Amino acid sequence: MYKIAVAGTGYVGLVAGVTFAEVGHHVTCVDIDEEKVKLMKSGVSPIYEVGLDELMQKNYAAGRLDYTTDYESAYKDADAIFLGVGTPEQADGSANLSYIATVARQVAETIEKDCLVVVKSTVPVGTNDKVQQFIQDFLIHDVKVEVASNPEFLSQGSAVHDTMHAARIIIGTESKWAEDRLMEIYEPFQLPIVSVNRRSAEMIKYASNDFLALKISYMNDIANLCELVGADVQDVARGMSFDERIGSKFLNAGIGFGGSCFPKDTKALDYIARQNGYELKTIKAAIDVNKDQKTALYKKASKRLITFSGLKVAVLGLTFKPGTDDLREAPSLDNVPLLLEQGADIYAYDPVGAEHFAKFYPEGRNGNGSITYVSNVEQALKDGNVCFVFTEWGEVKAVTPEMYKNLMRTPLIYDGRNIYSVDDMKEVGVEYYSIGRQAVS
Ligand code: NAD
Repeated sequence: MYKIAVAGTGYVGLVAGVTFAEVGHHVTCVDIDEEKVKLMKSGVSPIYEVGLDELMQKNYAAGRLDYTTDYESAYKDADAIFLGVGTPEQADGSANLSYIATVARQVAETIEKDCLVVVKSTVPVGTNDKVQQFIQDFLIHDVKVEVASNPEFLSQGSAVHDTMHAARIIIGTESKWAEDRLMEIYEPFQLPIVSVNRRSAEMIKYASNDFLALKISYMNDIANLCELVGADVQDVARGMSFDERIGSKFLNAGIGFGGSCFPKDTKALDYIARQNGYELKTIKAAIDVNKDQKTALYKKASKRLITFSGLKVAVLGLTFKPGTDDLREAPSLDNVPLLLEQGADIYAYDPVGAEHFAKFYPEGRNGNGSITYVSNVEQALKDGNVCFVFTEWGEVKAVTPEMYKNLMRTPLIYDGRNIYSVDDMKEVGVEYYSIGRQAVS
């Protein structure tokens, strides 16, 4: 079993560290955030992921897992150091590699034995080569360092499961030594491993993520056309899904993709293409469609209503998808400011994301409108004039047309996730608009 250090305890780093410990490796997770480290040592995950706390407690108690801000002690005698720090988007769409550079420098200055440095973060093609050179340039001890690419494909909300049951592990290496070591680290997971060179591994990550983003934008584009020609996008998707070449996943139309990956990774690949004198037209289209899609329902509602001023607006769901507390690039962040600007009095419900959202929009008056955070859907809907559904949490899906009808003053629903049946809404007499389906007006 290996002695592993993981830099960064976000969604990627922490889940990697915990699952490495779960299969028997000895893992130290490093973060610069002392509060996070304290919390993790007490057995509590700083991020919301099903099953993560339990695995953290189990492996910490077993002595296979620890957390620290002292990177030196964690890195100096590690067999492998995984980098899971952020690579956020910069204004021009490129990835910010400063966190990667900081860790690379720390690694170079601390390691005292031969070490495999594994970049898990999503980085532009060619970054691993640069990290290799960078570490070599700053190395203090006379040791061998090899950099490998091992992009991560987990989905937030099911991160632990996705890691333990990944469809494939991609490893990108430039030497047999690095390949063998990484294969051995992953051997206990018993998962298919695809071994390629570093640049291909880096590209596989972007090509995969951007293909999924493209699929979503394609279905949203088709949905918008469905509305115009009287087709139903869910029926269309069902019909398409039987074709194995298309597949049945990621065919749901909605108010666009969010999260920390698809928006950033589409822009990053577009940037990489431009840097190389190439125009990636398909990805540019996916980005454009998504930008418009996020406020498609708001625009629809604005046409239907004279004003939002003084209206009680229920917002169901704030996070970018269910199962996570992550708000990065969530459609709620595009729509709530527009609603507030127009004077809406928002009653927002989200089972885990409200506290975080309140950091951007504190409870009470906000510009021309106001926002109140409530603890269940009933409170959000009570006496409401309009309702927007942004996240398909289970408790939001469980709302019946009768509840909308009985709880709201004027039941007018804008469903960004197509979670209710058009026929049911029609039968109960609730005015209902969704994406790519017939309106009930
Ligand atoms: P995150 O922002 O949630 O976490 C990054 C962590 O790194 C933070 O806790 C931060 O404090 C810590 N950090 C910063 N500098 C550090 C340093 N010098 N040493 C140690 N820790 C440091 O990030 P994330 O969502 O886990 O994403 C990490 C990378 O993985 C990104 O490149 C992202 O694109 C990629 N990725 C993310 C997902 C996802 O679903 N979130 C999926 C696949 C790939």
